[in-house]
Amino acid sequence: MDDQLTFEQDPECFRFRKALEKAVEAVGDTMPEAQLARFLKPLELRGRESHICYVTAPGEFVATWVRDKYLTQLESALSEELGEPVQICLEARLHEPPADRRLPVQLQPPSSDMSAIARYTFDNFVVGPSNRIAHDGAKAVADRPGGYCNPLFIYGKTGLGKTHLLWAIANRLRAAKQRRAIRCMTAQQFVEEFVTALRSGSIRRFRRSVESVSVWLVDDIDFLEEKRKTQEELFHLFNHLYESGKQLVFSCDRPPRELAGMPMRLRSRLESGLVADIQPPDTETRAEIVSMKAAKEGVELPAEVCESLAASVPDNVRTLEGILTTLLAHVSLGRRDPSLELVDEIIQAHFGTPEPCRPHADQIIARTASYFHLTDEEIRGPSRKAGLTRPRHIAVYLCREYAGESWKRLGERFGNRDHTSIMHGHRKIRGLLKEDPELLRDVRRLMDDLNLEN
Ligand code: ADP
Ligand code: MG
Repeated sequence: MDDQLTFEQDPECFRFRKALEKAVEAVGDTMPEAQLARFLKPLELRGRESHICYVTAPGEFVATWVRDKYLTQLESALSEELGEPVQICLEARLHEPPADRRLPVQLQPPSSDMSAIARYTFDNFVVGPSNRIAHDGAKAVADRPGGYCNPLFIYGKTGLGKTHLLWAIANRLRAAKQRRAIRCMTAQQFVEEFVTALRSGSIRRFRRSVESVSVWLVDDIDFLEEKRKTQEELFHLFNHLYESGKQLVFSCDRPPRELAGMPMRLRSRLESGLVADIQPPDTETRAEIVSMKAAKEGVELPAEVCESLAASVPDNVRTLEGILTTLLAHVSLGRRDPSLELVDEIIQAHFGTPEPCRPHADQIIARTASYFHLTDEEIRGPSRKAGLTRPRHIAVYLCREYAGESWKRLGERFGNRDHTSIMHGHRKIRGLLKEDPELLRDVRRLMDDLNLEN
């Protein structure tokens, strides 16, 4: 894999880069100089694969902005310059691998991109209780491939960082002085290469190419369920590599034993090393992810904004990143303050206004009050008597989670309280729900009462 042409060595490289420069000039003609300098000029063409051009921007924010506003124009200008129709795949460039280790053009799977892959590092991965074992296992592999975590099997739902960890291993090993042959691929690529090899009679060459690696990482192995022939091949390659002391790493959406469409002998191989799950990150970890990603884009977000964003978005980190990108766009381009109001606005716009079937906040407050034998005024009012604060916090929690109320609006509903005290109440209940069975019982009963889905 290392002897393929990199884009820099491709004779067409110069022509394509020139064409992109011209396309940028053409599109930039109509925009203010400062925007041109910030958004379009820094775009770089980093590779191509038939009609797809891989272009990078300096940061996720610029990439999103260009994608939203100028991608179509850029594509047609570039196609015109080149005299052939091309598509642009635009991604942020955050951390580049050193030039001599740049990934060969041919290796790029169509759905990913060099810059995206290069930014999957251990430094960019926030560790919390939900992913610590998977992270530590991945690090152990990167430090000592073929050691005690072999094979490493990471599993978890989508958007929780499996691909990130796989590439973090590959990137760290690639950057290390000693050079090893590392192959990181998706299970889908594996199937495609295998089928192509079968069809073209080059199966021995295909096997040799995998058998010659020191570290083999296969992402999303659940893709192989029910694909008997490919599973056979995987089994064969697994044994060969494992017996030669090579490192194997797999990711999957569930543990090996639940891969019903795979034979027992393969499942038991897969679980013979370290099997580590990734759970959805808790709100603290999500807030840290938000803060770190914003800082990488050069924006310092106030802690309460990070927390509010983290609390409002479900556990999928990919969704969280998308919403953060929108927020950063408002802050940098729209010159808005990164405030709680802005977070609420973006969340509303993203998830839509509360559906008609959702209970209204007033309804939740009234039910909570009557459940605890309180009046509406008592639960909303200013008194801080012990018997009132807990029911009030529960009502706040339910309104926020199930009526989609903004912090500000909730403050108004509960006696014009400041949003920080509302957030405090919400946080308190969220934390206690993990350890206080009595509270959990009350909340569950209220949810049943209000027909709320868990
Ligand atoms: P999966 O492969 O499990 O579906 P990915 O690895 O593609 O998920 O992660 C989705 C996005 O979330 C990626 O951009 C990744 O960088 C980011 N991400 C996930 N977990 C973390 C984390 N703990 N710290 C930082 N970024 C994370
Ligand atoms: Mg993935």
